[in-house]
Amino acid sequence: MKYTIRKHMKTSLRNFAPFAVKVTIIAGIVGSEACCNNAPTMMTTTAEILDGKALANRLREELRKEAAELIQKHGRAPGLAVILVGDDPASHVYVRNKKSGCEKMGFSSFSFELPANTSQQHLLGLITELNQDPKVDGILVQLPVPAHINSETILEAIDPGKDVDGFHPYNIGRLIARKPALRSCTPYGCMKLLEETGLDLHGMESVIVGASNIVGRPMAMELLLAGATVTVCHRFTRNLQAHIERADIVVAAAGKQGLIQGEWIKPGAIVIDVGIHRRANGTLTGDVAFDSASKRAGWITPVPGGVGPMTITMLLANTVQAFKTHVGD
Ligand code: NAD
Repeated sequence: MKYTIRKHMKTSLRNFAPFAVKVTIIAGIVGSEACCNNAPTMMTTTAEILDGKALANRLREELRKEAAELIQKHGRAPGLAVILVGDDPASHVYVRNKKSGCEKMGFSSFSFELPANTSQQHLLGLITELNQDPKVDGILVQLPVPAHINSETILEAIDPGKDVDGFHPYNIGRLIARKPALRSCTPYGCMKLLEETGLDLHGMESVIVGASNIVGRPMAMELLLAGATVTVCHRFTRNLQAHIERADIVVAAAGKQGLIQGEWIKPGAIVIDVGIHRRANGTLTGDVAFDSASKRAGWITPVPGGVGPMTITMLLANTVQAFKTHVGD
């Protein structure tokens, strides 16, 4: 009995070689010497939390110091212009957070809150002005924009060198061509969280759930760039469970609360949950069933406090990067 259990444990660990160091045996050997019945051996893992809030604070502190030196050296602060069209309450909260994040860094922030009936022409005029303004290093148009405005036309009007959201086709193209310039903030933040595991991502089976232009697709390019083997699942994917079950890395970005069941997670896998949903009681949750997934995963991001704080942090990092390019640092 004991021999069988040991053999089973060894085989399990070998199967998850990259994760072996992470495995915590909670319920271990259950055999004739340890117990009086023939209960099955249970081996389970408890995930390490990938704390996006702590990582974001650390990176922001580094950025703040770097920005202070750059301000001293170049005699001006990095400048971020944020444009909001309409009165979507969630967008107002996001814009406020971005503005305050900027100010805490010592950046100049330029805020434009336009009424919902603003014409596309007017918005394009403002973007042209900001493209030419030497005090502005980054331009961000908060999405979604009202239905009468074509968001693609707007995003493509932003100077790619000031596209700190990293959504412009030029910046997406640079990532595809393995020469990233300004990177899409949420996938970039997910890569920083993956770095925290200390694992080499080369050859890892990664499965991204969601194929949007702002999360899923650039995330696929980031993971490919890092040497992972990438599968992108979307609304037409057959048998999502089968894809998840073989994934060493799961990035959940479908925008469907609790879509990824904990029982699907491969023991020891890294789970990055991008989804954000507000429950009826006001608390936030993600696309992954956290409680059950965290019993199997090796690492997992919480919601809130995982990917969310990293997105704004990478926006600030992109603003510093754009500034450095503009001042020739
Ligand atoms: P989206 O609606 O644009 O895209 C969703 C994608 O998921 C689509 O490609 C769709 O095909 C796929 N999908 C939908 N149902 C699916 C299913 N059952 N199985 C497999 N794939 C499915 O959403 P988005 O803008 O990419 O955002 C996704 C989620 O991430 C949302 O919850 C959003 O709020 C959140 N988000 C969080 C951050 C952050 O900073 N944490 C940033 C951006 C988005």
